[in-house]
Amino acid sequence: MTIRERFSENCISLLNEAIEEHDGCEIFVVGNLNAEALVFEVTVVARGNEGSVPVLLPFAEKGDVIIHNHPSGVLKPSGADLGIASQLGNQGIGFYIINNKVDRVAVITEPVAKPEIQLLDPGFFEELLAVNGKLAGVFPDYEERPSQAAMCVFVAKAFNDGCLAAAEAGTGVGKSLAYLLPALQWAKNNQERIVISTATIVLQEQLLGKDIPLARRVLSDAPEVVLVKGRGNYLCRMRLAEALEEYTLFKDSSGELTSIKEWSLATKTGSREDLSFFPSEQVWGDVCSEADTCLGIRCGHREECFVLMARREAAKAHVLIVNHHLLFADLAIRQGGMGYETTAVLPPFKRIIFDEAHKIEASATSYFSESFSRLSVFRVLGKLLRQKRGHHAGLVYAVGRKYPDCGIEQAVLPLVQAVRDAVDVLNAKVCECAGSGKTIPLSDISGQKREDYLVLPLKELVSTINNLVNAADCVLQKLPRKESQDDDREEYELRIQLRRLIRIASFAGEFASVTGKQEQPEIAGITGKSGKIFWFESFRGTRREQIIRFVATPLDITPIMRECVLEPHASVIFTSATLAIGESFEYWKSRVGLRDFTARECRTDIFPSPFPYQKQVLLATPEDAPSPDDPGFEEYLAKSITEVLLITEGRGLVLFTSHEMLSRIFQIVFPVLG
Ligand code: SF4
Repeated sequence: MTIRERFSENCISLLNEAIEEHDGCEIFVVGNLNAEALVFEVTVVARGNEGSVPVLLPFAEKGDVIIHNHPSGVLKPSGADLGIASQLGNQGIGFYIINNKVDRVAVITEPVAKPEIQLLDPGFFEELLAVNGKLAGVFPDYEERPSQAAMCVFVAKAFNDGCLAAAEAGTGVGKSLAYLLPALQWAKNNQERIVISTATIVLQEQLLGKDIPLARRVLSDAPEVVLVKGRGNYLCRMRLAEALEEYTLFKDSSGELTSIKEWSLATKTGSREDLSFFPSEQVWGDVCSEADTCLGIRCGHREECFVLMARREAAKAHVLIVNHHLLFADLAIRQGGMGYETTAVLPPFKRIIFDEAHKIEASATSYFSESFSRLSVFRVLGKLLRQKRGHHAGLVYAVGRKYPDCGIEQAVLPLVQAVRDAVDVLNAKVCECAGSGKTIPLSDISGQKREDYLVLPLKELVSTINNLVNAADCVLQKLPRKESQDDDREEYELRIQLRRLIRIASFAGEFASVTGKQEQPEIAGITGKSGKIFWFESFRGTRREQIIRFVATPLDITPIMRECVLEPHASVIFTSATLAIGESFEYWKSRVGLRDFTARECRTDIFPSPFPYQKQVLLATPEDAPSPDDPGFEEYLAKSITEVLLITEGRGLVLFTSHEMLSRIFQIVFPVLG
């Protein structure tokens, strides 16, 4: 096969230059194909040595090819090459090997041809929303909203042009329908998956209960839309079985667990919102699905697992409704190396619409914050060993029972106690500095006190966790290998918990090193090199005991936004009623990574509310009102409300922040107006 049958002239020269620049060593390149299946664009994504190169799969997507050079000139694929080629082949990505002169190529696997994009017709949406359009046929009292049609066209064009777009849509524009119509049509035309992310459940309910059914009535054959919830919303059958074994009559005094068990036999979804009562946080926390403890394919309940059922539903749908938090959980896994072509938390998707986009910064900051406390350490230790109805239970004993000669109990039990003691000391020392305040300024703990009360106890915790993990790992390494995944469940679960401890130790170590170095702390916390702020807060546990939570929060989410959201997705639409300040989007753009992101086009537009506020709204602020703590305030309020409601002939909505005040004012006003 000649090289020119596969590569454009320009790409051949670019590859030559790249290999030369790297002294003839191995490189790893992503190539994009044109309609003639010719590589017309190349990007070098990794550079190695004479014999190997790191493999970075996340950079390629279906229809691309990975190009890799063999400096020896022998184009026969190695075993490692074949492994990568088959992995890529399953994702529709081709694999080519070239020589260093770039005059020969071996095609190991062909890429799957990219389907031709079916563009949207913006005029179609204008007609749909026109006064005599299809939507008007569904609503007898339909009123055309020019802002809605304009926003719909704006979104359709952003899909067509594959760009980033931010739309501020005032109250009453009907922005949900304005983006749903092009999104559903695009998903149907191109068989692509689109994620719509919201900040609140209220908006998700509005989309599912009102806007999506409406959009489906006016679009023919609109694709399936599925709401995807975080796994914590679903019952985990394995954890329920464990809790049923462990709960005593006393612990389930309210009977909640028994009710959940009965419900589990009948429910089709296993979703908490389908329960007829609202379970306490503690009981639901013991039975809901958790990423860290889920056994996946090793689980004996996998066939009837609610989380896996929900995931299968999501995999079939072309439009997914999620919340920002769940979306960031998915993106964090993809950013961590999984890439954008396979299922992480969500099935793979190409385009994102962020509704309530003003909340993105808060959601991402909260998701990418890390924390630990005495409680979270105890929770993991409780998985390792605990008392169950007066007997020893937990993973250490389970492994010990399975391999009676492995010595895990002798090796690990004293070290578990050492971790308990270390985290108790750390908590007590910081509590001593904290007093009864909720937030604790680091400036209160300075000099030697900081070393003695914070840094050394943190280091001691790290050291005890490391000892425990090493001892347990040493025992696990010596256990016989199992033939099937079903046979190593206890070891697998133990490793999961050890990994959680390693994460806590690594975070505690970072906390110690950052807070230990600073001589002049800021008031609220300390900023480390990693761009995170380190701080702690105090809260009360179930027995009213004081607990300290150690937290690190990213100060700037823009690198995350660029890497996980703006770069990998074909179109990203942001919308909210409040994005701009005046006419300018600059402040909001600076907070979400869009302002200096010049790699892609970003459009913005404002779609004004159709409500005639100027004509119909009077905003009035009384200048003679006494202060709310003035004894005459209540009387003043009752008099003012009565006057206003007499003018409006009783039409009005009066909002209070206190129910007590509402009742008292009602008692005064009702006899006059009633
Ligand atoms: S697969 Fe995971 S979530 Fe499902 S029942 Fe098993 S452990 Fe629970």
